[in-house]
This record gives sequence, C-alpha cells and structure tokens, in this order.
Amino acid sequence: MEIALTLGVQPGLLLMPKMTQPMTRRKVVGIDLGTTFCAMAHIDPYGKPQIIPNGESERLTPSVILFDGASVIVGTLAKNNSVAEAERIVDFVKREIGKPKEQFQREFNGKIYSAEELSALILRKLKADAEKYLKEPVTDAVITVPAYFNDAERTATITAGQLAGLNVLQIINEPTAAAVAYGLDKLNEDQTVFVFDLGGGTFDVTIMRIEGQGIHMLGTNGDHRLGGKDWDDVIVNHVAEEFDRAHGENPLLDLQSYQDLQSRALAAKIQLSSRPRTAIVHSHNGKSVKVELTREEFELKTRHLVEKCKTICEMVLQEARMEWSDINKVLLVGGMTRMPMVREMVAGLSSVPLVDDVNPDEAVAVGAAIQGILSLLREEETTGEKTLSEDTRRQFSSREGGLIQVTNITSHTLGVVLWDEAHLEEYVFPMIRKMTAIPATARNSFGTASANMQRAVVRIVEGESTLPAECTPLGLCDVELPAFLPKGSPVELTYEYNANQVLEVAVNASGNQAKVRIERNTGLAPDEVERATAGLGTIAVV
Ligand code: AMP
Repeated sequence: MEIALTLGVQPGLLLMPKMTQPMTRRKVVGIDLGTTFCAMAHIDPYGKPQIIPNGESERLTPSVILFDGASVIVGTLAKNNSVAEAERIVDFVKREIGKPKEQFQREFNGKIYSAEELSALILRKLKADAEKYLKEPVTDAVITVPAYFNDAERTATITAGQLAGLNVLQIINEPTAAAVAYGLDKLNEDQTVFVFDLGGGTFDVTIMRIEGQGIHMLGTNGDHRLGGKDWDDVIVNHVAEEFDRAHGENPLLDLQSYQDLQSRALAAKIQLSSRPRTAIVHSHNGKSVKVELTREEFELKTRHLVEKCKTICEMVLQEARMEWSDINKVLLVGGMTRMPMVREMVAGLSSVPLVDDVNPDEAVAVGAAIQGILSLLREEETTGEKTLSEDTRRQFSSREGGLIQVTNITSHTLGVVLWDEAHLEEYVFPMIRKMTAIPATARNSFGTASANMQRAVVRIVEGESTLPAECTPLGLCDVELPAFLPKGSPVELTYEYNANQVLEVAVNASGNQAKVRIERNTGLAPDEVERATAGLGTIAVV
C-alpha cells in the first residue's frame, strides 16, 4: 500500500492569545466542576487546603440550574425543583460541554444558551459564594476535568470559567488533582498510584506515577455514563415495581412522585453503606408502599454495575501494560467509593492497600486549589511580581516537596489525514497515540500523492478513528513544494506535543519547510470574553 499526503483545504483552528490580567492581589480557588455536584477549595493563610462552603453552607453544590424568571438559581434549591419545574431546569450539562450549539442548546427567556454558557452560570454562583465566604474577590481558578475530556471539552471548560469572570490558570485532570491532594506531603516516596474515581454520574480510572517532584499519567479509561445515579435507579425501579404490584399503578409516570422516589432511593443507598438494611416508604395518589431492602439484596441487584467498574479497571491496567504488582496504592475518589460493595470489589482486585485518608468528595477540589497556588508561585518566579499574600507564599513554598510538576498523557490520538491509493479513500494515520506521555515527539516520512504537486496541505486531526470524518480537525500545515517533484517524493512530518499542550507540526518536503503551532486549551481572548459575557447578560445567579 502506498501512503501519500492528500491535498485539500479545511478551516484550521484559530490560535488564541492567553488571557492577561492587570497584576493585583490574586486569590485562586480550585473547582471540581462535576456532572452532578461541584466542590470548591482554597488554601488558607496557614497553607492548609480548605473546602469553601456555598451560600447554603453546603460543602457540595448540585450542578443543577433553575431559570426562575429573570434570575437563575443554582444548587440544592434548583435540584429540589428539578421535576416539578423540569422545563426550566438544566442538569448534567457537563455531558454536553464542548458540543457546538447545533448539537446542544437550551432556550430560556428568549435566549439560547450553549453548554459552556450554562456551565458559566454554575461557576458564577460558585465564584460569588466563595467571595462572600472569603470576603475577598476571587480572581483565578484551576478547574478540573475528566482525564478523557478531549480538546473541545477542555477549551469549552476554560471558556465557561472566563465567562464567569475567572482567569483559568490551568485545566487539570480530576485524578491528577486527587493525587496532588493525596500526595502533597508524601512526595519523598516514589509510588505508582491507581486512582479509582466513582462519582454521581461518571466513572474514571487512572494510573499515575508519583516520582520525586513529578506526577506522570501512565494510563486512563472510564465510562462517563456510569455513576451513583445508576445505583439509585435500581432502587427507584424496585420500589416502583413493588408499588405497581400492590396498587396496579406505575408511580414513575407522575413526575413529582418520580422525583420524591429518586431522593428516597439516594438516601436509602447512602444508608445501606453503614446499615445492613433499610426501608423505603413511598406514597403516591393517596396510596403507599413500604419496601424493605437489605444490603445483601441491593448488592445482588447492582452486581452488574460493580462488574462494569471491574472490567474497566482491568482494561486500564492492560492498556498501561502493567500488573497489579506494579501498583503501590489504590486511591479512592468520588462519593460512591464510600459504598462497601465498591470498596470490597476494589480491595478484591489485588492486595494493594486502599488509600482513603482523603475525603473522596473533596479531594479533587483540594488538589486543584493546591495546583492553583503552585501555578501562581511559578508565575511569581517568572514575572518577579508578587501577587500572593506573604503568608501564603511562606507557608506554601516552605512545604517539603516544593513545586509539583504534573506530567500528563495525551487523552486522544493526534493524527494526520492521508490518501490510501489502494482503496481510493482518505484515512487517519496516528502520529502520537492516545496515552503517550507528554512531552512527545513523532517523526514519519510520507510520499506525495501525485507528480508535480504544487503544495502539500497536512491536515492535523484528533481522535481514535481511522475515518477523517469521525475525528476532530485541529489545523493545517501547508507547504509549497519544489517544482516537478515526482509522485512519491518524501515529505517528512514531525509532531511535537509539549507539556503545555501546544502541538507543533513541522513539514519538510525536499528542503521546503513549514511549521504550524496549535495552542490548545487556551479559551477565549479578552475581547472575545467581553463579547460573550455581554451575550450572557447580567443575569443574577443565586
Ligand atoms: P461525587 O460526584 O464524587 O460527589 O459522588 C456523589 C455520589 O456519591 C452520589 O451518587 C452520592 O449518592 C454518592 N454517595 C455519597 N456518599 C455516599 C455513601 N456514604 N454511600 C453511598 N453513596 C454515596
């Protein structure tokens, strides 16, 4: 099969300058922008990470938005109305972030909202609550995302932060943040950590190496539609069946009854984590049913969900070409890891000790807050400008271990579109494969598709498919070719992906060279933020 570069033109990615801010005192928070719940943390003046409670004095804020007339309500109040006012509610928006408006949009009060604008409303609430609690303006944030998020999803998360008035210092992977929270004082000990993160709506597994001053991702996988809600649904359906058996009526057809049952099921699930049995009483239309449920029965009914988690654990280990004996610790993250059946399954996978001295709901936000301070310290070192309080600087930089370098791996394959002459079709050749540690470099030589080609247009894409249409275009690198080149003349292609997630693609065709720099995850430029914020309006978020 002869491999040749295709010609063709496709719009490339816009290169956007980083957002700059006038230098003043800065306050950074770490935000775990979750599918079902958000958490926020900061570093207190004594150098200790602390969770910031929201305006309702809760440590976790439900990621639910209620459009209530001219104002927007985010959190528990919105969640409590999610069925009664379903048409004015947005939840699970994290699952939609990064999608263009053609694929996801919601309209309220005559305005169309994208997923990142809706996420910005959640972040606005978190920022406002933090400012009230801390009694100072919050300027910067480190926001966490699942390790499997692609470039569009990460960029949209940055944009959401910017729209909420935050300077997004960094987007870091949730398991990386959890490991930072866990490893801060223990970095003098090299270790390979398996992060098992089962939250309300997503499941993530990551293997990382904590070595000296660095955290290196070795592998990641997950299921972003598997979480605590699936366990809740099993109880909901079980009670509904019992209700139907007793009264010949499905209580789930009534929305209010459905919502009530959902909250009862969630409470029952949590009870079963500490008690061997529970009872769920459900009333609807003047009729009621009492369903007794033992932990054993519940575990039997949800065995398939735990098995799903187990398969993903084995898969990520295999993908990283590792054995359980290579793992030193298993770190439990996410509220669902409080459940005995989940802990037992993880404990049964190997004899590796489980680490649970980090609060599983809060570890991600705490790690992000720590990374935020480290980012600002690094900036201070570069610019010489002091933006942190003396106390914070002293407390934090004197910690053993000092600054942590977080090394990531590519979450998606970076490829080039080629022409397959044998099958007369385009396909994607992987240059830097998924899960390669970054920085990474790849070099390959290809032949020109025909004689006398005037230019070679290299189409750079991201994705796991070999079909160009199923990958995300990242940009173009266009090189003029010397005259009269025969077919199959060598075109050398180099991909360099650095630690700041900047991809540099260089093309060398018989001495003619071209280079393109694709700066990823940079969000909006200041003028674009201004325009977009104006578009979002001055909605009051409470
Ligand atoms: P997270 O997204 O990490 O905050 O995880 C939230 C999920 O954990 C929700 O599905 C909660 O119902 C669940 N959860 C929290 N605490 C417990 C507990 N003690 N037992 C079982 N599930 C819990």
